[in-house]
Amino acid sequence: MRTIAVLNQKGGVGKTTTVANTAAALAAMGSKVVAIDLDPQAHLTIHLGIEPQAIKSGSYGVLINEAKFEQEILLARLNLWLLPANIDLVGAESELVSVVGRETILREAIQPVQDKFDYCFIDCAPSLGLLTLNALAAAQEVLIPLQPHFLALQGFGKLLQTIELVNKRINPVLKVEGILLCMFDSRASLPHEVKADIEKFLNSARGTNSAWAGAQILPTSIRRNIKLAEAPSYGKTIFEYEPTCHGAEDYKKVAEFIRDGGPALCGAEQEQPAIKVESMLQGPGEAPQ
Ligand code: ADP
Ligand code: MG
Repeated sequence: MRTIAVLNQKGGVGKTTTVANTAAALAAMGSKVVAIDLDPQAHLTIHLGIEPQAIKSGSYGVLINEAKFEQEILLARLNLWLLPANIDLVGAESELVSVVGRETILREAIQPVQDKFDYCFIDCAPSLGLLTLNALAAAQEVLIPLQPHFLALQGFGKLLQTIELVNKRINPVLKVEGILLCMFDSRASLPHEVKADIEKFLNSARGTNSAWAGAQILPTSIRRNIKLAEAPSYGKTIFEYEPTCHGAEDYKKVAEFIRDGGPALCGAEQEQPAIKVESMLQGPGEAPQ
């Protein structure tokens, strides 16, 4: 099972839209997919047409070790399972504060289903707290959706630094697979400038042993498309709501890119030379603003 955390600590950049539609596209191609809603706002759960209020335990129960992953997942579509979230998840961070090994609860919880699914997507909350650490400890790959507007790169360095720390301390196989530009408007010049800035930033880590040394901007960007914004309110994926729109076309290409391997196939490098955390923190530093 390839476990992919879809992460950006900024809200509204396209994480949930990416998980819902990429997972749905891969499921439609015949892969067995499980998606995990790790955001207390439960947007992924709602996007897939499930009422968070009806969820008794979901991802919260799994994280506080009250429920088993296999028992909490729901069949949301053919080949697509969901570990839903509800608002209880808000309390998980504080409830787990004194629990030993609290960063690796999700990793242990999904261990028994490694052979049952081809892909596991984790829709992260917009923070770099304990929920996100659990996602990073459980994943082999990170996909970062990013909206290429003014200040898009603010906080990007911090995000990569967090991934790096998890990679060095808890999860040596973790790699940033790529950056997915969402809500891309190719007619404006700013998105192209932001894209060039990210490329420059990623190039600064090439050939190093950093967790994002192999990261690239995905060849397909997700165009701004109103249908993608409308579909969640009907509890539908884009393929159910408007299968011929640009949004459906773009997410199908992203799913194909992920299926065909992408740049950083998980588990390729199990062992990495240890580097000093101090020197890592000085790394490439904050991304250009
Ligand atoms: P996040 O999970 O990062 O907070 P979402 O996926 O929920 O972000 O997206 C934020 C908002 O933008 C949602 O209302 C979503 O429907 C909308 N949206 C996402 N991608 C697009 C797109 N490509 N074009 C238009 N609207 C989009
Ligand atoms: Mg979201």
